[in-house]
Amino acid sequence: MAATTHLGDAVLDYDDALEHYDPVIGLEVHVELHTATKMFCGCATTFGTEPNSQVCPVCLGLPGALPVVNAKAVESAMRIGLALDCEIASWCRFARKNYFYPDMPKNFQTSQYDEPIAFGGHLDVEVDDGAGGVEVFRVEIERAHMEEDTGKSLHVGGATGRIHGADHSLVDYNRAGIPLIEIVTRPVVGAGRRAPEVAKAYVATLRELLRALDVSDVKMEQGSMRCDANVSLRPRTGADPRGADQLAVPLGTRTETKNVNSLRSVERAVRYEIGRQAAVLGAGASVLQETRHWHEDTGVTTAGRIKSDADDYRYFPEPDLVPVAPTRETVEALRQTLPEPPAERRRRLQLDWAYSDLEMRDVLNAGAVELIEATVTSGASAAAARKWWLGEPSRRANAEAVDLVSYARRVGLTPAYVAELDALVTAGRLNDSLARQVLDGVLAGEGSPTEVADARGLELVRDDGALEEVVDRVIAANPDVAAKIRDGKVQAAGALIGQVMKELKGRADAGQARALILDRLQ
Ligand code: ADP
Ligand code: MG
Ligand code: ZN
Repeated sequence: MAATTHLGDAVLDYDDALEHYDPVIGLEVHVELHTATKMFCGCATTFGTEPNSQVCPVCLGLPGALPVVNAKAVESAMRIGLALDCEIASWCRFARKNYFYPDMPKNFQTSQYDEPIAFGGHLDVEVDDGAGGVEVFRVEIERAHMEEDTGKSLHVGGATGRIHGADHSLVDYNRAGIPLIEIVTRPVVGAGRRAPEVAKAYVATLRELLRALDVSDVKMEQGSMRCDANVSLRPRTGADPRGADQLAVPLGTRTETKNVNSLRSVERAVRYEIGRQAAVLGAGASVLQETRHWHEDTGVTTAGRIKSDADDYRYFPEPDLVPVAPTRETVEALRQTLPEPPAERRRRLQLDWAYSDLEMRDVLNAGAVELIEATVTSGASAAAARKWWLGEPSRRANAEAVDLVSYARRVGLTPAYVAELDALVTAGRLNDSLARQVLDGVLAGEGSPTEVADARGLELVRDDGALEEVVDRVIAANPDVAAKIRDGKVQAAGALIGQVMKELKGRADAGQARALILDRLQ
């Protein structure tokens, strides 16, 4: 079978879709905890080791093996619940979710069903208010429950890495049994046209919170944080997505786009589904309740499997594990271990850094808060730190669909380097455009900013004599322009400055060149 290119279905223009329909979203986020051992056995959880080197009778589901719950994982689950303002169950059980899949050796997944460890919370996220500021949007959390990850299948010999067309498949059970927390929102209503933005901001804010809790690596591209995005449309009743009329309209049929693995993709996938469903409904057809797959390359979703609400997993309480019953004292003690809430921390940093609301939101969405904090600690101004991190590095991380922190780590761009770049500008050795070239070199792995500047010969000509010589030469070569400036047409100096910069290959300070030119001609 030839590799297929996913071209997607008919899609209605976003504005047209929003004119007729009100989008509702729901997000399911799976987070792998970074505990040293698995959820129900003592196997290690190290990422990227030799396949099937971290397995035992329990996580391989061998007959007679008995699971024991990982206390640290339960503690992390409760801390996540508390940080989301959830209630913590005083008594809850694990349940068996029965289904067969080759990467799930027990033939059931140990999960939680109707007795989640945490329920009924919320997370406040910030979105554009359309008037140059930000607005807090509250996302209600339905529940956070504990479960275990499955193994991984590797399909070998085909063109696509998918099972279709593969010669054979290999299964790696190292991931089977790693603790997972699934965090599920209630249907998010009232976001209107900002639904894709809210989805992205929610995942970004949740990731920030989980990072602050230090419970997971939250690496979307490595799969330690994964998002399924549910989307449905209902008829739009008027201009206000939060109006009583609108809220009274029953929810439409949802689709569930699986494993969307970057923040940018979350936004794109939701936006795409809105356009696609609007086209389906607009043509008089019905949206099918199904899972869908997101295709990063083409930016479309394609149909997966039809999914009814009553998928029969024959859930029943896990008989081999005791119920989880934390005392109130335990819960209150855990509450004391919560970090400064990210929203408060953000407000404190925003004040320190003197960023506008929008600047701060961009920094957050770029996942650059910690990087900027470290860069400022290394001596850069907050404004410069923001400018450099949100420029080229962010663009490239986005283009590669990886988060900024991972990208920076891979190419070797550290906060100390960004601070060094800023220091070179402040000291007058580089101007902005030279600094950008230096950054290019750093991103290409050519070394520290100073090393790159030295190796590439990037430095402003600071010797007045050398600059004066070029200025005089340029004036002599452009007598008409010089005459205009002498007649008082100061703006004509721009042309001469351009010439000077060109002669010096950009290595001049434009302000200094301008001052010299005017000095000569006035
Ligand atoms: P499932 O087992 O199908 O994954 P979950 O309860 O785990 O179901 O998650 C369903 C998600 O979809 C939740 O976030 C929920 O709020 C959301 N959701 C439910 N109905 C709708 C709807 N009509 N439109 C959009 N999202 C929905
Ligand atoms: Mg689910
Ligand atoms: Zn094991």
